[in-house]
This record gives sequence, structure tokens and C-alpha cells, in this order.
Amino acid sequence: MAMRLSPKNILDQLVSFPTVSRDTNLPLVDWVASYLKSHGIEPHIWPDPDQPHKAAVFAHVGPWEEGAVVMSGHTDVVPIDGQPWDTDPFVVTERDGKYFGRGTCDMKGFDALAIWALVEAQYAGIKRPLQLALSFDEEVGCTGAPPMIQAMQKVLPKGSAVIVGEPSTMQAVTGHKGGFGYDTHIVGFEVHSSIMHTGVNAIMEAAPLINWANEQNAQNRTAKPTDIAAMFDPPWTTVHVGMIDGGTAHNITAKDCWFMMDFRTVPGQQKAGWRDAYFEQVRAVEARMKAVHPEARIDVSENFSIPGLAPEQDGEAEALVRSLTGDNASHVVSYGTEAGQFQEAGYSAVICGPGDIAQAHQPNEFITIEQFNAGHAFMEKLVERLKN
Ligand SMILES: [Zn+2]
Repeated sequence: MAMRLSPKNILDQLVSFPTVSRDTNLPLVDWVASYLKSHGIEPHIWPDPDQPHKAAVFAHVGPWEEGAVVMSGHTDVVPIDGQPWDTDPFVVTERDGKYFGRGTCDMKGFDALAIWALVEAQYAGIKRPLQLALSFDEEVGCTGAPPMIQAMQKVLPKGSAVIVGEPSTMQAVTGHKGGFGYDTHIVGFEVHSSIMHTGVNAIMEAAPLINWANEQNAQNRTAKPTDIAAMFDPPWTTVHVGMIDGGTAHNITAKDCWFMMDFRTVPGQQKAGWRDAYFEQVRAVEARMKAVHPEARIDVSENFSIPGLAPEQDGEAEALVRSLTGDNASHVVSYGTEAGQFQEAGYSAVICGPGDIAQAHQPNEFITIEQFNAGHAFMEKLVERLKN
């Protein structure tokens, strides 16, 4: 019979693959696939057609029917560049009650537990199916999950309750804001600043668009939040400009200006509404620029988009996690996850995983052994539950 590894053994394996988002994750995916196969579980590998060095892997255990519990994790980790590490980031090192290593917290700890649970479920004779879904490119804007979810739905019976194991110290997190952002490139027309009225200054045309963001924030923060929005801090949609670049010299009207604007929307507010409102401003500024010089223009491209996770009324995934953890408090978080993407695709979704987000992305990232064991206990209960 094939060797059944402990969650810690599986974590050691997963961390040993340096699956930084820009690099390949195929060795990790192959390892997971062959481990599952050795236990009679059929792995499905979905290679990204646009990035042949990356793939998702998913699998189904139990009766071949709809309604599975889905354990969702991502395989990629953030880079270690420039970070002072005291240990090898790609070797799990145990010290002071903690497992150190890149991804131990975000989120190979959960991935290891989920792989362990799937194999346990295979031998336990579960009555309700269990699925595992491991994505890629989560850390670069959650772009790997949507095509993976589509691919899963083509080959597996559709699951119904998704547990996204991002670090939440095993609390049930039922909501996060949506996020999306735009790169805006203003193309002006260069002249000497002494005759600026004959040119188009890209920086000065950017100013009203950036000020529009200030105005939206001022309005949003004084409006009364909905009950759901009130759970968030701040309880309103934010519009933020985090980067700007442009211009050549103090006495030349700026030919180019680039800036990056991002929106963090509270549940209930639609991306389309905000996008339309922003584009209306852009088109108005552009029309004014073109009146001075017809070649002046504004190009806008989306640089990321993650749907929010809206707290569900009597959500199935939330109820399942609460019954296993005993956590009845309400929690929302400020970071985006794949949970909103599963919800958008018609699943009930909740976030619950071991570890604290405060340790994610840090040098000397760790998960406490206490948290890892809490995740293990959760998975044991989950498999037990699926037997009935
Ligand atoms: Zn993560």
C-alpha cells in the first residue's frame, strides 16, 4: 500500500518547491498529482494555455455526485527577494513552537492539510464528496482561480460549499471587499511652458482625475453605510491613487503622465458602476485635451480585478465551518481572496484556514504548530462529518 504521509511531511514537500508566482509550479503540481494517484485518487491537471509553466490541480473523492465540500488553496508564494531570512525559506524549520518557511502560513500549511484530508477521505468511505482545488497566480491578482473553476466544472460534479484556507486563525471569515484597479496613461502634447496654452500638459490633465478620487472618498465616508458595509473598516468604498509618474522638465508641458488607481468596494456596490463613473470622467477630460490637440488621448487598462466576498444569508459553507470550529462570531477581512471568485461562480464560500495573515509575505514567515494542529483537528472533523 502507498505511504500515507502526515500533514507535516506533506508541508515539508510543498515548501521545498520554490513556487514564487513568476516561476513554475509544475514540479509541485506533479508531486501532488503522483501522491494522490498513489492513493487511487485521480488528479486533474489544468495547464494554463497562456503560461505553459503553470498549472492548477484538482481532484474529487467520494460518490460521483454534486454537492461536494471543496477545499481551495493556492500553490504560489510571494518572492523572498530582498528579505532577510534567518533560515532557508524553502526548507521547513521548526523552532520555538513554529514552522518557519515561505508559504507555511500563506498558504501551503492549509494545502498540506487539505491534501492529507483528501487521502483520509479516500480511505474513510465518505458519503458526501470532497474536492481539492489548488490554483496558481493568486498572489499576482487572483488570476489563476477563475479559469481553474471553469475547468473543474467541466470534469467534476459541481461542489457546493467552498472552504478557502487563507490564514484566518481558523475563524470563519464571511466577507471581504472587492478590488480592481486601472493604469491610466495620459498622452499630452509637448510645447515650451511659456506657450502652454498651445500644448496639452498630461500631468495637469491627470490632476482632475486624481481629484475625482478625493471627491469620491469624501462623499463615501459621509454616506450612511449599509449593515453589511458597516462590518468593514472603513465601511465605505475607497478610491486610491498609489503611483504616479510623468513629465520631462519644469519648462516643458508634460507629454506623458501615468498613474494607478484602485477601488476597494464594499459588498453591494458593483464594479461596473464605478468603472462607468470613472470612464465618464476620463472621456470628459480627453475631449477637452483633444480640443487643443487631436492626438492627445487617455488610455486606460485594467491591472487587476477581484470580486468581493459578500456575507451570505444562511450560507452553507459558513454553517459547515461554524459547526466544525464552534466559531460563531462575524469576521470580515480587508484582503482579497479566491472566495469571491467561487461565490461569483455559484458556490457558497467561506474563508477558514490556519495561521495569521500578519505573518504572510514576511521574511521568516511561520505558522505556529498550535495553528497547524488546529487545522489538522478541523480536517479530522470534516472527514468524520462527511462519513455521515
Ligand atoms: Zn494567500
